[in-house]
Amino acid sequence: MPASMPRTQLIDFLPDIYRSFLPGFFEQPMAEERHATCASCPMCPPAEPDLPPDAYFNPSTKCCTFFPALANYSVGGLLIADTGEGAEGARRVRARIAARIGVTPAGVLPPARVLLLQRASRQAFGRAESLVCPYLDRERGACTVWAHREAECATWFCKHNQGADGRAFWKQLRDYLVLVHVTLSTWTMRELGIDAERIAAGFGPRIDSLDARDLDDRPPRDDEYLAMWGHWAGREEAFYRAAFDLVRGLDRSRFEALVGIDHTIALDRLQRRHATLRSPRLPDRLVRNPALRAHVLPDGSRVFASEDAGETTHLRRELVRLLDLFDGQLTNDEVKAKVLAQTGVRVGDSFLLALYQHRILIAP
Ligand code: SF4
Ligand code: SF4
Repeated sequence: MPASMPRTQLIDFLPDIYRSFLPGFFEQPMAEERHATCASCPMCPPAEPDLPPDAYFNPSTKCCTFFPALANYSVGGLLIADTGEGAEGARRVRARIAARIGVTPAGVLPPARVLLLQRASRQAFGRAESLVCPYLDRERGACTVWAHREAECATWFCKHNQGADGRAFWKQLRDYLVLVHVTLSTWTMRELGIDAERIAAGFGPRIDSLDARDLDDRPPRDDEYLAMWGHWAGREEAFYRAAFDLVRGLDRSRFEALVGIDHTIALDRLQRRHATLRSPRLPDRLVRNPALRAHVLPDGSRVFASEDAGETTHLRRELVRLLDLFDGQLTNDEVKAKVLAQTGVRVGDSFLLALYQHRILIAP
């Protein structure tokens, strides 16, 4: 999802509030996903489309067919920055608070009906008007809550420099951030006096038991809403701002004391995936991925779609022919020698690595 500033470290990809307390690991270098060029979105149809219309995203929504769950402190941050650039985001989140739909002490969450639709219609992602994000400024094609974006929006890219390895890294970062959101919003709720039994019961929309209010996008009953908010009912904005102030005051040692072993495990997993990006390893033998789906273009080139990589790769006709030489028996060096002898073409390891990372070739 869209970004505007040059980013070089992992922390640059996240909202500023995390800068003062996330672990030192987040100062590691991180490259932009240079193929996810939001200003000229590669997922939207070009002037002369090669692929069937359904293969492309809707240019007026792009990938923002998603309803984010904004943690309580993120909502507070949006409300505080309610002038200049932040004014529209503050106005939109304030309107949601007034409507009381998905408005909880944990944060401003997607309505159950929308969440159900999102989960049941993966193919509609990037395409359905009815799923467009309420925080997308469609005239400007801009996110109005970017400064406090949630985990999915901070980590989702349509294309990855390093294919499946990049995708695995960003997915793990998303899971890590969800853990951080949940921990910090739970901590702030407790600090601000939300009833412990109510916190334990959870606030997320229950999509297996929707009632008429959920289906009709109506707020919860007054008694339910009051029970959820306790003495903060009617002062929700003040609550969110107080949650933001608490999180803004964290430093690394206080954060580490709050997050515990689940955070350590999530960070270990993130570091492992980051190490794979920094030092990728090419298997000695490769084979064409049997699960690839291919769309043949009029010039004989192909667009391959790999579930593992989660994106498409375009290969020229002469390169497509090379793929079948990788049979899982010959080593890569033997295949390279064979290609050189037959065609005079020298295949480099960086090219093989790209084919492997995009799961066009896989380990046998
Ligand atoms: S689909 Fe990709 S390039 Fe297009 S707006 Fe989303 S992240 Fe950016
Ligand atoms: S919150 Fe922003 S980035 Fe996320 S889906 Fe909405 S408009 Fe897009």
